[in-house]
Amino acid sequence: MTIDTHNSLSQRIEQKREDLIALTQDLVRIPTLNPPGEFYRDICEYLKRRLESLGFHVELVRAHEAPGDSEKYPRWNVIARFEGAQAGDCVHFNSHTDVVEVGQGWTTDPFGGELKDGKIYGRGTCDMKGGLAASIIAVEAFLEIFPNFAGAIEISGTADEETGGYGGVAYLAEKGYFAPTRVQHVIIPEPLQKDRICLGHRGVYWAEIETHGEIAHGSMPFLGNCAVRHMGAVLHEMETNLFPALAEKQTTMPIVPVGARQSTMNINSIHGGQSEPKPDFTGLPSACVPDSCRVVVDRRFLMEEAIEDVQQEIKEVLETVKAERDDFSYDVREILRVLPTMTQKDAPVVKSVARAITSVLGKQPEYVVSPGTYDQKHIDRIGRLKNCIAYGPGLLELAHKPDEYIGVQDMIDSAKVIGQSLVDLLIPK
Ligand SMILES: [Zn+2]
Repeated sequence: MTIDTHNSLSQRIEQKREDLIALTQDLVRIPTLNPPGEFYRDICEYLKRRLESLGFHVELVRAHEAPGDSEKYPRWNVIARFEGAQAGDCVHFNSHTDVVEVGQGWTTDPFGGELKDGKIYGRGTCDMKGGLAASIIAVEAFLEIFPNFAGAIEISGTADEETGGYGGVAYLAEKGYFAPTRVQHVIIPEPLQKDRICLGHRGVYWAEIETHGEIAHGSMPFLGNCAVRHMGAVLHEMETNLFPALAEKQTTMPIVPVGARQSTMNINSIHGGQSEPKPDFTGLPSACVPDSCRVVVDRRFLMEEAIEDVQQEIKEVLETVKAERDDFSYDVREILRVLPTMTQKDAPVVKSVARAITSVLGKQPEYVVSPGTYDQKHIDRIGRLKNCIAYGPGLLELAHKPDEYIGVQDMIDSAKVIGQSLVDLLIPK
């Protein structure tokens, strides 16, 4: 590509600054809160109108019977495809349309999309409606300058990423939308920062551990068996042996922040004994020995670990405690498992975006891996597509926080990178 076409594409994107701001604001003003999963249809219809006017063929797909799908809260997704003038690869941009709850501490309207000092504020600006808007603007500018490109471009807006993606990307992948015969390159514009390429994520194993006991009068605990004390012993064993062992397990994955370059485990919740009284209940608790205690553990694991080893470690903790305590019994129930995934640095989409970052921003990209998962897991696991990255504007630290914002210049810069990646991937040399 000559310097001229590069400049004209970048200039075209600059000229779309006002449009980019308005598009982002429109998207933020549709309050697609998840849970429960509101206004999915509205945001899909909005995107359909916009993309159809550009000449895309647009489908709306409801994830019937996916977790969370109901007549009241249907899981709608939008997939748009633009065929080029000749055969070639398909580049797919996938953004999730859902946003998490607002929470406390806002000084701006969370669904107002206020523009102040070059930043647009609102829930979902950074994670990830800003990335969605930047990818659309980049594609629009590309289509205006290179109408005769080879291959195809797809843009999808999908549901439920914040709650596992089963009503979104997982559903579409199962229906074949991410099959390697249909799509060859996937870019997910999550807020990883405009000069970083995110290659993948760690694995996840969520499980509920329950210790069992026997109910009795609290004045005679020796007649019962306290499930909470049993769980105390389990947690003690984890503190003494498991957590130090996890900290020893380091990875070669370039995870940011650096603190996550090891195995980690969070105790997500603990419940034992009587359930909490309702807020309007003014009485006292009754005297009972708890017969059940449950914790949910959130274990994040590395490419270097196997899921079987992760499960075995937890079993060993419980078996160690069992050998030391009378009347100890337990159950482990798996809630979620996601294997780690990492696209190779020499994959075509990585190389193209890396070249585009260097040419637009004048610096080498930083290659990173996310501590938490995102929809790449489904594209890899179900779609079997390895050529997938996350690349988009915004600071990950702002995601899910009060006064979340996206910088307009960041969106412009990453739109230029995205536009130039399209040139690299879809314009025959
Ligand atoms: Zn996100």
